[in-house]
Amino acid sequence: MIDWTEAKETILNAAERLQPIEVDILDSLDMVLAEDAAADIDIPPFDNSAMDGYAILSSDTASISEDNPPCALNIIDSQPAGSFTDKTVISGTAIKIMTGAIVPKGADSVIMVENTQPVDENKVIVLKPVRRGENVRYKGEDIKKNEIVLKAGSVIGSSQISILASLGKSRVKVYRRPKVAVIGTGDELVDLTDPLLPGKIRDSNTYSITACVKSTGGNTVRIGIIKDKWDNVREAIEMALECDVVITTGGVSVGEYDVVKNVIEDLKADLKFWKVAQKPGKPFAFWALDKKLIFGLPGNPGAAMVCFEAYVRPALLKMMGRTKFNKPEVDAILTHDFKKKAGRLNFVNILVEHRDGEYYATTCGSKKMGPIKSMAYSNGLALIPKEVSFVKAGEKVRVQLIEEKERM
Ligand code: AMP
Ligand code: MG
Repeated sequence: MIDWTEAKETILNAAERLQPIEVDILDSLDMVLAEDAAADIDIPPFDNSAMDGYAILSSDTASISEDNPPCALNIIDSQPAGSFTDKTVISGTAIKIMTGAIVPKGADSVIMVENTQPVDENKVIVLKPVRRGENVRYKGEDIKKNEIVLKAGSVIGSSQISILASLGKSRVKVYRRPKVAVIGTGDELVDLTDPLLPGKIRDSNTYSITACVKSTGGNTVRIGIIKDKWDNVREAIEMALECDVVITTGGVSVGEYDVVKNVIEDLKADLKFWKVAQKPGKPFAFWALDKKLIFGLPGNPGAAMVCFEAYVRPALLKMMGRTKFNKPEVDAILTHDFKKKAGRLNFVNILVEHRDGEYYATTCGSKKMGPIKSMAYSNGLALIPKEVSFVKAGEKVRVQLIEEKERM
């Protein structure tokens, strides 16, 4: 039985970044950029006005003060955004200008409309002085032509999309999403719309794990539930191997009907490990087959999701080009005593609360709450080390923040 750090390292070593593909800009959200994005133009591409007002010469306003009367200027043209005037501003003149419009020749500043008073269509009174360059956004001020604005490896969020759009990139090169097959094994399982005959339970794993894959950014193929029979399991896994990653749940323990392991070995996959010194999720198995990864998650719904968080999510993220695989971690004060057996790392479902500058952790998984509910009612996963057998209330535990959104 190996430790989780070794298990995770083995998996991350086997998980290789997938090849880059070109996608539509909006499909690149949350993906990783596979090439540097350089600016083909200066941004903004021309000196433009930051305000609605008048493009003028700042020197015309230099003498305006409380004692000195404001100056009157002749309006020689109007310049809305998107248009272009060939008139030149000279001393004594002004061109009406809108936000985003090119600053016309001659002008060195813009007086905002609030600091002027109209006389008629051809004349305006400037009430306050302006500095040279005031309310002008200069060409290339934001981004310089040829500047690398986003490096390969950047994770694309909405502000990166804004940059890519400004650079004219309608298509974006990103590392592709892995295609992930999800199989649930077990004679006891029925699908959601099927009758619950005696001894049967509803399959939740293929749904929860499919949701986990989707939330990581993977493309999912939910193969569904398969009976604990060699032929059925084999056929399902062969079909699943069309994908980059195969995730099975159930059938990897030591039970008489746990055939998943034997089938996958028969397919000549390389068993990297089976069984990890952790709770829950001990009978977790992992294989590599060429460049494909096969995760044999335990059937217990809580254990399956813990294993997904601890191992599968980081692997999928690596395949998509990410370099940070871990959820944010905090040290949280345990609100009650916690007992465990030494010998296995425990992943404990935790409700983390933030008050008065401290994080507080209360366990959700216990006799009071089964694995399905405790996952849903928690927002973190505490890692209680292998050798520890008791944590006293008030001591700190390390918690991975799993669920960032407030759901309850
Ligand atoms: P196994 O790992 O196959 O021994 O299953 C362990 C436990 O998880 C058993 O109680 C199973 O009934 C349950 N289980 C297995 N697969 C699923 C599933 N897809 N959905 C919900 N529970 C499951
Ligand atoms: Mg089973």
